[in-house]
Amino acid sequence: MQHQGAHMTTEIIQGTNITKVYSTATGPLVALDDISFGINEGEFISLVGPSGCGKSTLLSILGGLEEKSLGKLSISGEQVTTPRPDVGMMFQTSVLFPWRTIRENIRLPGQILKLDKSDQVERTEALLNMVGLNGFGERYPDELSGGMKQRVGLARLLAHDPQVLMMDEPFGALDEFTRETMNLELLRIWEATKKTVIFVTHNIGEAVFLSDRVFVMTPRPGRLEGILEIDLPRPRTTDLMRDPRYSERVFEIRRMLGVDH
Ligand code: ADP
Repeated sequence: MQHQGAHMTTEIIQGTNITKVYSTATGPLVALDDISFGINEGEFISLVGPSGCGKSTLLSILGGLEEKSLGKLSISGEQVTTPRPDVGMMFQTSVLFPWRTIRENIRLPGQILKLDKSDQVERTEALLNMVGLNGFGERYPDELSGGMKQRVGLARLLAHDPQVLMMDEPFGALDEFTRETMNLELLRIWEATKKTVIFVTHNIGEAVFLSDRVFVMTPRPGRLEGILEIDLPRPRTTDLMRDPRYSERVFEIRRMLGVDH
């Protein structure tokens, strides 16, 4: 059973004093400055902030793709140094292999991790269904729209059943209508699977709509300006956007970011 009280939840991710300095041709560049946070199991977290504030850098560090310069980071009690099988990553464009069918693209992570084949065959069918691609398994990526390709990306992300999903503007390249549909699908899948999601976006409304908490980052050097709890009812529907409590949260984040003039 899922307990809601903060004292009952388990922290799955802990970051302490995370700092990232890139060395560049013009000298050191502080991309993240002393960031500390905890993320509970099953939480939906968004990272928002202006372009260049270090959102992707933080996500890459969380995913074990990039090394931090200072600080500590653990997932499920283990220090993060390399990518982990219990963490899946998804980006703005899903790189699909054009010569593989949709079904074969979704099965790829399972093949790489050498997971049980018959389980994976069954799982792939369930995933095609879950992301609304029933009947598209034998098609090739070139036959699909941008939105459908991101549906494949979502299915592939879930293929090896990672507990934590790290998503870097996964629907950012899609038109607004498709993006809204994909956000609703993501929430539905998240509610059904109880994953922990960390979602990067520069769209404040999207962050409020999706999240349990929003991590608000400041422009470079990226610091955590604050964390806003989005204590709005679930399941969320687009009606929420007409709710004054939704606008209040959006304006609170705008205020934290200093974008109101
Ligand atoms: P965001 O995702 O918020 O747009 P990024 O994490 O991509 O921000 O970048 C944060 C800062 O770090 C930016 O100033 C960017 O130019 C810089 N940066 C990102 N990656 C590198 C890199 N590999 N080498 C040097 N600087 C980088």
